[in-house]
Amino acid sequence: MADLFSPTHIMENLIIIGTGCAGFTAAIYAARANLKPLILAGNMPGGQLTTTTEVENFPGFPKGIMGPELMMNMQAQAERFGTRIEYAMVTSVAKTAEGHFDITTEDGKVYQAKAVIVATGASPRHLGLPNEKQLIGRGLTSCATCDGAFYRNVPVAVIGGGDSACEEANFLTKFASTVYLIHRRDTLRASKIMADRALANPKIKPVWNSTVAEYLTDEKGEVRAVTLENLVTGEKSELDLKCVFVAIGHVPNAQFLGDLVDKDENGYIIQTKGTRTKTEGLFAAGDVADHVYRQAITAAGQGCASALEAERYLSEHGVH
Ligand code: NAP
Repeated sequence: MADLFSPTHIMENLIIIGTGCAGFTAAIYAARANLKPLILAGNMPGGQLTTTTEVENFPGFPKGIMGPELMMNMQAQAERFGTRIEYAMVTSVAKTAEGHFDITTEDGKVYQAKAVIVATGASPRHLGLPNEKQLIGRGLTSCATCDGAFYRNVPVAVIGGGDSACEEANFLTKFASTVYLIHRRDTLRASKIMADRALANPKIKPVWNSTVAEYLTDEKGEVRAVTLENLVTGEKSELDLKCVFVAIGHVPNAQFLGDLVDKDENGYIIQTKGTRTKTEGLFAAGDVADHVYRQAITAAGQGCASALEAERYLSEHGVH
């Protein structure tokens, strides 16, 4: 039996960490450039799109495609050209004195690579209520662009008071009958222009000083209402709605990189040029470095760019 605690001693050209749109697109490009990439897939193979239903805005699918199917297609396309995938949660990455990377996984295994692409995405922050995880895709989501169009002429709610919450709420007014904006304080954190726009929209009804204490479901297990708790008076009330959009921020999955990268105040990796980071040979692509666009197609675009840059880096270091 293999000793999990000893290094593999196989020097990979390129290890891609993460299997969302950025990771698989990087793999497709790197594999077609004969780099024989290895992907390390964490505990959410396929990334955020596996938690959504129909994707209507990914170019090339005029009738839409289900999120999980899109990711399976990307995986098949990456494997077709020789990408290998291992399921291992990365806990740390270090650059050695010789210039390669040691990548340690949860089970103590150490992988070695000449270049690394980090495409670990960002996880939406949740309230932490007991049935929250089970309700994702059943009336609870963190992506208005993905799921807003499914809730036409029905009441929905957005939780949060930042730019994301205001942006999502405004977008949702195209479809929903009413958009409740549930915020734990009585002033929005969002930039003035975004806040003003949201508050001026007659379809958006702010619910101040309040939090969602409970999600209530119907007989099909889908969200039908929430229990609101007023944080000033302690009063509880029920609010009927069909979907809750949780917009209380994202947590980029970059904690395991230590000092190898610089991060902005929200924890997103700072790219120095293109998808390069401050560490030579370490590239970052997709939502782990992008808090602005956060779309499947922009993540795929960065995945492509990171593979081209990694290919150039490796060729400058003698890998052809
Ligand atoms: P954010 O600015 O951190 O706002 C998070 C919001 O969620 C805050 O209002 C916060 O309340 C609330 N919140 C946090 N934890 C909560 C909890 N446990 N329960 C209830 N509410 C909670 O996050 P964001 O809106 O996602 O924005 C992230 C960054 O991206 C920001 O820099 C933002 O400017 C930027 N962004 C820009 C645009 C744009 O310019 N188009 C769009 C989206 C995002 P408090 O206010 O009480 O802390």
